[in-house]
Amino acid sequence: MKKNRSNPSHIVLTSHPPKDGKIPKITWGAKTLAERGPLIASMADHAASNVIGAYAGAYSVYRAVAVATGELDPLHVPDLHNTSPPVKIGPHEQWFEPGKIVSLDPWGHMVGEAFEDYRQKGLDVRPTIAVTRAHINIPEIHDAMRAGRLKPDGKILKENGDVRVTKAAIDPVWHLPGMAARLGVDEHDLRRSLFENSGGMFPELVTRPDLKVFLPPIGGHTLYFMGDVETIHDPNVPLACRVHDECNGSDVFGSDICTCRPYLCHGIELCIETAQQGGCGLVVYNRKEGRALGEVTKFLVYNARKRQEGGDSAAKYFERTECVAGVQDMRFQALMPDIFHWLGIKKIDRFASMSNMKHDALAQHGIEIVHRIPIPAELIPPDAAVEMEAKKAAGYFVPDPEQVMDEKGLEGVKGRGLDE
Ligand SMILES: [Zn+2]
Repeated sequence: MKKNRSNPSHIVLTSHPPKDGKIPKITWGAKTLAERGPLIASMADHAASNVIGAYAGAYSVYRAVAVATGELDPLHVPDLHNTSPPVKIGPHEQWFEPGKIVSLDPWGHMVGEAFEDYRQKGLDVRPTIAVTRAHINIPEIHDAMRAGRLKPDGKILKENGDVRVTKAAIDPVWHLPGMAARLGVDEHDLRRSLFENSGGMFPELVTRPDLKVFLPPIGGHTLYFMGDVETIHDPNVPLACRVHDECNGSDVFGSDICTCRPYLCHGIELCIETAQQGGCGLVVYNRKEGRALGEVTKFLVYNARKRQEGGDSAAKYFERTECVAGVQDMRFQALMPDIFHWLGIKKIDRFASMSNMKHDALAQHGIEIVHRIPIPAELIPPDAAVEMEAKKAAGYFVPDPEQVMDEKGLEGVKGRGLDE
């Protein structure tokens, strides 16, 4: 049997609190990172933590398994040399406005360098945001080039279809009082529900009300930027944006029951076009598979939709989800504007989304949406008409209200059978 490599004699090295013996306090929303203080999720010594939970979101569970099997030394300290962002993001005024950012750490990309001294003292302070650069190359952009809609400029879009991007990965960091206020629930009730519905995974949620920050074991966000990231908050620089919630079936595998990948690619096209015109493009990719219900629930719903009497129909689209999941949606778009506040964005010129929920969440947070861009009709796969017409009837943005079907019309929109 493998044995984990934990060595008790090393614990002092990685978990010893600062000389005064106190664990640094967190002042959420403070104007400087020094005043805000480091978030410490010490996995080697819980007593040295000032947050609940562990780093790396959902992957913290794999980390635990790697420690259990002896693959990973639990006392390993990351070497953060050369890992800092290639661009400057913030601070922006939104970082200090109470209640504006509650679900991520706006300083998360800066803590590696800023708190190196704490790290040297053995306190576990790690970045929750990483920013890097990449080239992406996807078939739909080649299609847009062939059709003459996009032209290579050698900078943002190259002749070979490479798109130069900056990208950021963000792990969730929840400020529990702010989170409760945003969702309109009592903080104690939220903590208790998180504790009970995770099978009691984090007792500190209920035993340590003094710890206000929680690193939940869930998926985070990935951002793709086209153009100059450092001007993205400037309202005079046009911004195109797609806010996309993960759909593995369509995004990666090209499943045709929804419009996810076609709309994502259309959004990327708009972002490239806007960046080429001197603006910026931003794709926000949220790990909220199947409306945050998960893929197992999603596939159960697909079966229920396609097996129901009369077949898959736009008229029964939402009902089938609710039968299986108990709700239609668990994405909590009310939290989504945090990303925009992190970037200091106040205006989106071209919003590649028809979702009323996303639009309303941004509008409620004072982010102006100038134009909403529907997915071009020719990009909607035939089997996805059920979802599209159901969403339009439920409040999705359509430029022409005449396009919204009545109940009878919706009954006529049918999807493919399960065995076809
Ligand atoms: Zn989808």
